[in-house]
Amino acid sequence: MRRNLKEVKLKNGFIFNGEKIYLQSMLNKPSKNIKENLKQAEVLEQLGCHIIRVSVPSVEDVKLIKALKKHVSSPIVADVHFNHEIAIEAVKNGADKIRINPGNITKKENLKKIVDVCKNYEVPIRIGVNSGSLEKEFLKKGEKVGHKALLKSALKNVSLFENEFNFSNIVVSIKSSNVLDVVLACREFRRLKNFPLHLGVTEAGLEKASLVKSSIAIGSLLLDGIGETIRVSITGEPEKEIEAAKLILNALNIEKKGVEIISCPTCGRTKINILKIAREVEEKLKCCEKNLKIAIMGCVVNGPGEAKECDIGIAGGNKVAVLFKKGEVVASFKEEEIVDVLLKEIEKF
Ligand code: SF4
Repeated sequence: MRRNLKEVKLKNGFIFNGEKIYLQSMLNKPSKNIKENLKQAEVLEQLGCHIIRVSVPSVEDVKLIKALKKHVSSPIVADVHFNHEIAIEAVKNGADKIRINPGNITKKENLKKIVDVCKNYEVPIRIGVNSGSLEKEFLKKGEKVGHKALLKSALKNVSLFENEFNFSNIVVSIKSSNVLDVVLACREFRRLKNFPLHLGVTEAGLEKASLVKSSIAIGSLLLDGIGETIRVSITGEPEKEIEAAKLILNALNIEKKGVEIISCPTCGRTKINILKIAREVEEKLKCCEKNLKIAIMGCVVNGPGEAKECDIGIAGGNKVAVLFKKGEVVASFKEEEIVDVLLKEIEKF
């Protein structure tokens, strides 16, 4: 548990206290299409998403929250902008957390109305400060959004909720598309305030770019002991966000869940199609929760060594591969049998 961190509770025993890092993603089907959203939420849950966020652009779209609550067990976060009445209805209809951006619900009395209903229903609020919608008061004319302005906005809004509304059931996010701004603003915020932080790089781009930016920002902060829940924002399918988030936690040794694949980069010695094998194995195991490390190596130069560190591994030869278990060669196979052999071995674990 993070020292002095204020605990914020969601349903199902979810507590933001640093003992577990919760993964989040956001549904991206049109809000009116309830069927598609339910399907996507189900897939996200199966992949290991803990908290599901959903856009609620109008009061009518609150229906989606009700439907999600019946369909999945993950806490549902209503993402609300501009209109405080939507947030109020979302809470009344079962949202487990509200995400608002005080930059676009500007009237204090309207924020207060949201807070009042959240107090009644014991629903936490995420104050989401975002570089794309920062309040004008924090920027001088012509100035670009930087970590200092983001931090000022977060501190001002936290103080408003805490001191004027007497509400501290809050989680804070300070997001920017600039990695350094995210890291510096979140570090400073945690130094000054003890509210749980939701981490992420906003508008991080397509999968590859986002994975790099998010790994640096979220990874650095988690290594500093900062951050209780994360979202890897990717332009594309939300499923990818959960896969990426799990990779980050795995790489940091924070949560070993699912199969970790060690595969070699291939070189002139490679005589089996490592890329195809690794991709197939990765795809087939993406919902597997077994904590295993497997090696997919092109040859015997580094193969046996890597395989020793893994539960299972293969090292390729000329259109064949040998299978290792805990570093010992146990069998050899033709190239076309490798994927099946590995999957069967994993199933036995
Ligand atoms: S394990 Fe073998 S095939 Fe793979 S990169 Fe190393 S030397 Fe090349």
